[in-house]
Amino acid sequence: MRRETISIHGGFICDPATKAVAPPIYQNVAYEFESADKAAALFNLEIPGFRYSRIANPTTDILEQRIAQLEGGVAALAVASGQAALNYAFLTLADRGGSIVSTPQLYGTTHTLLAHTLKGQGIQARFAQGDRARDIAPLIDETTRAVFCESVGNPAGNVCDIEALAHVAHAHGLPLIVDNTVATPILLRPIEHGADIVVHSLTKFMGGHGVVMGGAIVDSGRFDWTSQASRFPMFCEPDESYHGLIYADRFGREAFIARARSVYQRTTGAVLAPMSAFLILQGIETVALRMERHVENAREVAHFLRGHPRVASVEYVGFPDSPYHALAAKYLGDRAPSLLTFGVAGGLEAAKAFYDALKLIKRLVNIGDTRTLCCHPASTTHRQMTPEQQIRAGVRAETIRLSVGIEHAQDIIEDLDQALSAASTPPTIASR
Ligand SMILES: *Cc1c(COP(=O)(O)O)cnc(C)c1O
Repeated sequence: MRRETISIHGGFICDPATKAVAPPIYQNVAYEFESADKAAALFNLEIPGFRYSRIANPTTDILEQRIAQLEGGVAALAVASGQAALNYAFLTLADRGGSIVSTPQLYGTTHTLLAHTLKGQGIQARFAQGDRARDIAPLIDETTRAVFCESVGNPAGNVCDIEALAHVAHAHGLPLIVDNTVATPILLRPIEHGADIVVHSLTKFMGGHGVVMGGAIVDSGRFDWTSQASRFPMFCEPDESYHGLIYADRFGREAFIARARSVYQRTTGAVLAPMSAFLILQGIETVALRMERHVENAREVAHFLRGHPRVASVEYVGFPDSPYHALAAKYLGDRAPSLLTFGVAGGLEAAKAFYDALKLIKRLVNIGDTRTLCCHPASTTHRQMTPEQQIRAGVRAETIRLSVGIEHAQDIIEDLDQALSAASTPPTIASR
């Protein structure tokens, strides 16, 4: 099946009990065992089946199969948020200690997870100077357990050369983990370009309506843990917490997801609620259509902004003069993501006046909703940084980030236009 079809049918034919054609919400915690022996086999992970919804649930299972198929992986684990997915992905590989080498353009909370939270778990993050393979390679050593990047960085909008990063990782016997939240498998499938593990915030474009939080980890099934047994003993040696189970032996190509589920989901429980899984499934049914409109609207908005006298600059990978245009063409075709940034002419005060004058477009910090969303990083997400740190992160006082929604493009443009006019009107004596 093609991605448009998987989005609607992947992982579900019809409910075996009732023949319902939409995924039912299995709003239950536990499942009855046929016998003590069957229960024992389930608990030994010898036979598939459900026992307790912290470990697996039939509604969530449909979502996991659908996402695995969309990304071209062999298995997936859905969890309560994108951050939980990232945390479990890193811990599943590196919980005996070690380092993770990452590109620098990351979602803010992911940067904090790597730089601060995981440090307390004995995992050291190493951030490269740039997102090229040559920036990554010098940071890898025998302690390294994975290379990490966002396929399209949020909020930077950079497009990573996944094939080159996978090549460097594999040359060192390491897996490449890719956060594919901004692109979605509709625009880009990292596994086709060599990624080993793909992580998602389902909260954004996949769910797509700004009503539900969720995350997922997808396993390509291609990384050979046993050939790197000294780096990854957790897949190749008996697990004492699971009466001597060896994940690579029992689960083969699904060893990574099996360990993420049996160790982290089971014992630390960042479970996705069945209702949330259902809402995300509803969203995914239209993700291909929505992404088309997101992409088309962003193109129109980017061109409008570039031609506007009150706009100082526009960063949009769809422009031929963008430094990422060639990589965007290679990995996304002509479908540039709907995340773009621009600078309001006139600096901080003009940017704030523009921001406050928006009427249709929402002032908040989120992306990937049906609605057009707007963030002023200098007042919010990047507020704690010094001006120098802001510049390194690609943020200036006048920078505005847009996640272009799926409204009529002309309505989005008219709101931007009236807000830009407000930005340039000198304050009246009364308002001063
Ligand atoms: C939002 C986001 C996350 C975190 O996801 P949550 O669902 O909010 O926990 C991780 N990575 C990227 C690229 C994101 O945009």
